[in-house]
Amino acid sequence: MAEEELFLEVARKTVGEDYLDVLNHLIKKGTEITDKDLAAEMNLKDNEVRKKLYVLQEYGFVTYRKVRDKETGWYVYYWKANVESLNEIILQRKREVLSKLKMRLEGDSSQIYYVCPNDGYKVDFDAAMEQDFKCPKCGTPFEVYDSDRFNSTLLTMIEKLGNEIENETKLLGNKSS
Ligand SMILES: [Zn+2]
Repeated sequence: MAEEELFLEVARKTVGEDYLDVLNHLIKKGTEITDKDLAAEMNLKDNEVRKKLYVLQEYGFVTYRKVRDKETGWYVYYWKANVESLNEIILQRKREVLSKLKMRLEGDSSQIYYVCPNDGYKVDFDAAMEQDFKCPKCGTPFEVYDSDRFNSTLLTMIEKLGNEIENETKLLGNKSS
């Protein structure tokens, strides 16, 4: 899955190659597991696995849940890959892009032009108002100039991104509930 590859790639760049075996194992596992069981499954020493888990945890790539063992009184740590955190990071990035696109659309819309349908005489909003929205040459009422070609591309991008964000937000909500 591309998402998991991206997650591993981000981890590789952040903590380095040495920690990827543990992280990769947790991703493949898909469920939480104690560090002891993880070490056993990977044929590694307990403290070696624990050391890697703590570093991965520090950077948010894994999370744990601790449960006190009623008999021994010690805490048992259950670990899992925190792939959701990456989804949240990507989603946040998309939200930022969307808000920038919306700002650009608003900026573009504020620049309204009027055109005479008869002879193509084009003026900005202020000039059109001065002429009572009629062409000074022929008296034909102005029409709003269609600058929609740029706008429609922008609108399509905004719509697409908005839908993506909505769907992914729902998905994340379902996962965490
Ligand atoms: Zn005209």
